[in-house]
Amino acid sequence: MSPHSNPETTAHPPPFQSFCEKLPERFPSTGISVLIAGGGVAGLLAALECWRKGHNVRIVERSPSRLLSGDGFTIGPSALLALDKWPEMSKENERISYESWMSWHKITGEMIKHPAPFQLNPSKAHGSDTKTPTVYRHSRPKMHQMLSDQLDRVGLAVEYGKRVLDYYEDSSSGKAGILLDGGEKLEADVVVAADGVGSKSSRIVLGQEVRARPTGFSIYRAAYPLDETRTYPILDENFPLMEKNTASSQLWMGDGVHSVFGRTTNEMSWYLTYPVNQNNPTRFCGRIYINISLKDHGNGAESWSNLVDPDTVLQTTATIKGWPDFANRLIKETPKDRIHDYKLMWREPQPCWASPSGRVIQIGDAAHTFFPSSGNGATQGMEDAVSLAACLQLGGKDNVHWATRVHNKLRVERVHCLQLLGVLNHEMRGVSADAQPSQAKPVGLLGSWIWNHNPEQYAIDNYENALACLTDARPFSNTNTPPGYVYQSWTIDSILEARKMGKEFVLEGDWE
Ligand SMILES: Cc1cc2nc3c(=O)[nH]c(=O)nc-3n(C[C@H](O)[C@H](O)[C@H](O)COP(=O)(O)OP(=O)(O)OC[C@H]3O[C@@H](n4cnc5c(N)ncnc54)[C@H](O)[C@@H]3O)c2cc1C
Repeated sequence: MSPHSNPETTAHPPPFQSFCEKLPERFPSTGISVLIAGGGVAGLLAALECWRKGHNVRIVERSPSRLLSGDGFTIGPSALLALDKWPEMSKENERISYESWMSWHKITGEMIKHPAPFQLNPSKAHGSDTKTPTVYRHSRPKMHQMLSDQLDRVGLAVEYGKRVLDYYEDSSSGKAGILLDGGEKLEADVVVAADGVGSKSSRIVLGQEVRARPTGFSIYRAAYPLDETRTYPILDENFPLMEKNTASSQLWMGDGVHSVFGRTTNEMSWYLTYPVNQNNPTRFCGRIYINISLKDHGNGAESWSNLVDPDTVLQTTATIKGWPDFANRLIKETPKDRIHDYKLMWREPQPCWASPSGRVIQIGDAAHTFFPSSGNGATQGMEDAVSLAACLQLGGKDNVHWATRVHNKLRVERVHCLQLLGVLNHEMRGVSADAQPSQAKPVGLLGSWIWNHNPEQYAIDNYENALACLTDARPFSNTNTPPGYVYQSWTIDSILEARKMGKEFVLEGDWE
């Protein structure tokens, strides 16, 4: 056993019975105080999991009240595993998550591959789990509500209206803290930066802001409720539900653009990813690639509150060859104040998410941003939450600074692989208008190494060895990355350079 680990917790003590059947079993108190900044899915789940692991939790959020905006996101089985420990959330998740069948289309709307369930390859499942894993969609507001309600049930109130201006740490006192707008300072044994894209923690963790570089693309996104008593001829004709009212999604792929139309029984959503400078796309092997050197004159913003009206979208669709009129009519019918223009930015994958003294740790989008085409932003944020809570328990109060580094070590290579897949997926969708069925597959959503992962168990199984690697330079290799792949770090420039030289990215090992 390493001198830095907590002998009482590395032996996996049995949790004591919860005082209330509806709450999960809570582990004995570790005495570790955890202060979480940011109440997105990563921050909320981190609060819950830290509570379950016996830590003392406090969570602050800059919004004045519960954040219930946004459309839908994909949450993979590796993240949903966490809910198994929470009886009420498990039940609620059954109610709010939905399966969506997907069909593949040219940008003209012509179908190239029939709708099929978005299921993962069951032959790759191992262990006793015989269920075919399914990728579920969630409404972001409902997921948020579910996590917030559970926090209420454990008596943890999110402290709204508290904006973090800065993070700090003091290795001599063994504390870290945040400075709030208004001058108040809050401290704890560990501060979790879960404040999303552009986190204020970058200064202390990396010594500088992470540069956001334009990709040259922006996304129009809209989601709105459907009135169940009304009929919607355009939807029924062109975007029907599947049998038994199962949700359906259509992915349309075109020359540098791609679009997704999703319909459930009570909601319609659509996205259109487009190059902001239509006249200067970069082509390579017939595909359009991300080009950060584009002069980005778009009106998009990296914000969930940048609204545009339907006419603006129609100006863009007018430039897409073969774009059908029925899709324009759908756009025109989108209720006002529902269309966002979200600018797609790119940030370098960061190797280090922990501050120099290990007392501030970034999770979720604060640590790693994903392209929407990775389908992994929320999933990885939730995996982080589970892994961090487990590592803190395994390390114990005296080793918080090692626990955060071990968590970083266990997670970072996996996340970098997934960030890369998001880029490749984005490019794959930007194929020319004569898209073929062979191109109709999502890179990087179906690999068993992604969904067949249990972040809590992984932390328990690997904590000691990862710690010994950090403290005594003992060899340690992560096993939560694609089998057979030897991890290589990558940068935005390394990808752009490879493209310039005409090189395809060869993914060695089993990514599928
Ligand atoms: C309003 C909003 C709407 C979104 N809508 C969608 C969507 O429709 N589809 C989708 O795929 N993804 C959406 N996302 C992004 C998605 O939720 C995240 O990419 C992903 O779930 C990772 O979650 P996260 O908790 O790391 O970050 P986020 O979900 O971004 O959460 C970060 C939280 O930190 C808070 N925060 C930020 N700065 C500070 C500060 N200085 N002090 C205190 N708190 C701070 C934010 O208000 C936010 O609640 C949205 C994010 C937000 C904030």
